[in-house]
Amino acid sequence: MIKGHCLCGNIHFETGAEPRGISMCHCGQCRRQSGGVWSSAYVADSDLTITGEVTWYASSAAAKRGFCAKCGSFLFWKALDEDTTSFALGAVSNPTGLKLAKHIFVADKGDYYDIADGLPQHAQ
Ligand SMILES: [Zn+2]
Repeated sequence: MIKGHCLCGNIHFETGAEPRGISMCHCGQCRRQSGGVWSSAYVADSDLTITGEVTWYASSAAAKRGFCAKCGSFLFWKALDEDTTSFALGAVSNPTGLKLAKHIFVADKGDYYDIADGLPQHAQ
């Protein structure tokens, strides 16, 4: 079971499903919203239980981003035409039992760090 919560504890989430797409996103939107790199994985909406009040920001016509309006934690990303939701690995309590698989949107990454863990890097 994976359990996580925002900084203030207003929002909790959990899933018993095996998360997929374990990645770090370096895109401009994730950079700005998270303050750095956003690490996430996704499960089916039906496998994700969320309690507390999530505030959703429509970051584009295709996706929305969920955060806590009290403490600012950026917790969720959701494509509007998919029945899955990505959740922030940084909000998951240890031990997560998860292992990072890839970096995405590295074409947009900040120029102030290098990625040196040897994992696959995708431009988009
Ligand atoms: Zn909060």
